[in-house]
Amino acid sequence: FALAVTGLLAGGVAACGDDGGSGTTGDGSVGKVGIILPDTASSQRWGSDDPKFLKAAFDAAGVPADIQNAQGDKSSFQTIADGMISSGVRVLMIVNLDSGTGKAVLDKAKKAGIATIDYDRLTLSGGADYYVSFDNVAVGKLQGEGLVKCLTDMRYAKPVVAELNGAPTDNNSTLFKQGYDSVLQPKFDSGEYVKGPDQSVPDWDNAQAGTMFEQMLTQSRDIKGVLAANDGLGNAVISVLKKNKLNGKVPVTGQDATVQGLQNILAGDQCMTVYKAIKQVADAAADLAISLAKGEKKTVSQSIKDPESGKDVPAVLISPKAIFKENVKDVVADGFVTKAQLCTGDF
Ligand code: BGC
Repeated sequence: FALAVTGLLAGGVAACGDDGGSGTTGDGSVGKVGIILPDTASSQRWGSDDPKFLKAAFDAAGVPADIQNAQGDKSSFQTIADGMISSGVRVLMIVNLDSGTGKAVLDKAKKAGIATIDYDRLTLSGGADYYVSFDNVAVGKLQGEGLVKCLTDMRYAKPVVAELNGAPTDNNSTLFKQGYDSVLQPKFDSGEYVKGPDQSVPDWDNAQAGTMFEQMLTQSRDIKGVLAANDGLGNAVISVLKKNKLNGKVPVTGQDATVQGLQNILAGDQCMTVYKAIKQVADAAADLAISLAKGEKKTVSQSIKDPESGKDVPAVLISPKAIFKENVKDVVADGFVTKAQLCTGDF
């Protein structure tokens, strides 16, 4: 691809809650932090971006962090948590695979007096001490608005729009859908758009997403737009569209600004993605975890209501950004990907 990246900005990312963490109130000792990430298949971020930025933040602070990945397996998730708890971590940070196992782990940690952080995904009724994520309803809203922008460019009359939602066991999927349906539902109601198939993809499984979209397309040949909840699902849809020579004619959304998603955008096969600055969320979470590991308590300014327990969870929520072909260069300028990665597909 000939990617025109001009005038790269140097840095400019505001670090979140970067107050240096002085004023230890505990006994001066620094505890260990345990972090469990969910899998490596549902998005590039879990095997690459999040561990990289988290490690860098803990290393810079000189705080020991044990970062592990459950590889999509709920029983390994629990085994890893048990190991971390018995090894005496002072803070446990998790990205749950579902709220049930997430809550079981958080309950055990709390019993052992360990501070807990839900990272990216809220554990329903989990009662974590903090939640650090993006404004996920805003993520969905950007996806809905992005699809509308691309469909407007295509000038289709009454386009049929399909939705491929994320895992039903992931609270974020509910929030993303809330965001994009707030944009799309009024258009279905007014008759401007026609509601097409609307399905959730178990475990964000990309292969299943491909099979599901193949069936959607067989049932409804005139699908003209697809709200796919992340870049992996979007890429599965694009592969099916390619087989049917429909790629580029049916706008598809995504999320995470993965290398593959950005390449699909540059190729004209994907309408947009949502860039979530992983460095910012990792820094914010690490900042909290480091304070807790030093025995300090931190107050944060936001909160989110757990829809199941009704309780408020103190939160740090970062704003996402929509990326179209015109501003892919912003993701490069932020240092999240390099121009070379986009040209070669290398990670
Ligand atoms: C995350 C997304 C990710 C998806 C699949 C969601 O909870 O917020 O960034 O694409 O899970 O891993």
